[in-house]
Amino acid sequence: MKKASTFLLLIFLFIIPYSRCFSWGFWAHKHINHHAVFLLPPEMMVLYKPNILFVTEHATDPDKRRYAIAEEGPRHYIDIDHYGKYPYDSLPRKWNDAVAKFSEDSVRAHGIVPWHVQTMLARLTNAFKEKNLASILKNSAELGHYIADAHVPLHASSNHNGQLTNQIGIHGFWESRIPELLAEENFDLMIGKAIYIEDPGKFIWKRVLESAVAADSVLAFEKELTNSFPVDKKYSFEPRNGIVIKQYSGAFTIAFDKKLNGMTERRMRQSIFAIASFWYTAWVNAGQPDLKGLVMQEFSTTDNKEMEDLNILWNSENKKIIGREE
Ligand SMILES: [Zn+2]
Repeated sequence: MKKASTFLLLIFLFIIPYSRCFSWGFWAHKHINHHAVFLLPPEMMVLYKPNILFVTEHATDPDKRRYAIAEEGPRHYIDIDHYGKYPYDSLPRKWNDAVAKFSEDSVRAHGIVPWHVQTMLARLTNAFKEKNLASILKNSAELGHYIADAHVPLHASSNHNGQLTNQIGIHGFWESRIPELLAEENFDLMIGKAIYIEDPGKFIWKRVLESAVAADSVLAFEKELTNSFPVDKKYSFEPRNGIVIKQYSGAFTIAFDKKLNGMTERRMRQSIFAIASFWYTAWVNAGQPDLKGLVMQEFSTTDNKEMEDLNILWNSENKKIIGREE
């Protein structure tokens, strides 16, 4: 049994990379949304603090939804290098202009995260205007997800998993392995206060361009480190949830993080700050509605069913993937 599981996961490590990777690992997404709550002003905290578990748990819904909705995938990334060289001026930053120039199919095919963040901001703003608790919480959790994805360097590169440079696995290495090994004890995720964002479009495009630049470093540094690291020390076999998996070793992970000079921590911090600031901006733009009375609102049966169905689908699709590898 143990042998079969090991075999399964060894395959897993090398097959996953050929499909599109979607985001920070679940662990990081949840932590990022959780920490963002503490940057909010008291008028918002009255709603977010009692619902912090919801905002944390549902940080991963957009990833779960990718099985249900075909158009979900491109919302998580942008292959910005498809549009030439930094700062990618050939790509209009406004959606209508980009679509007019390249066609909607093409723009979508190369990823739309900076635009989708703005769509989600509009939805959250409307939810605040309507004083609809379920909509506020769902859109907050999901907006947080897409903003965090925009901060991941390899979400702004067509070489998103090192598949073009023989570095397969690097995507999960940066966004899951590093935070899961180091964040709890070594990352400082306490940040000041949310700010009002005058120009959300400009803000998120800036972060995406930073991600694109950082992607080059992530890929180059991993290659350098691999060349200077003992071959038999790069990976290790470690137990996880009762089974043994092959993954980047602790020593290699720490060395990589050091070489990146804290980039993962920095991007996590910036994600947290951006998310809280987008939430705050939506609330201000909705006219700063009083949120105190909303705490008592209940989720509708439809809302609850939708979330339950998403989890059922996610679990069954995960089983199918594992089944295929078996
Ligand atoms: Zn994602």
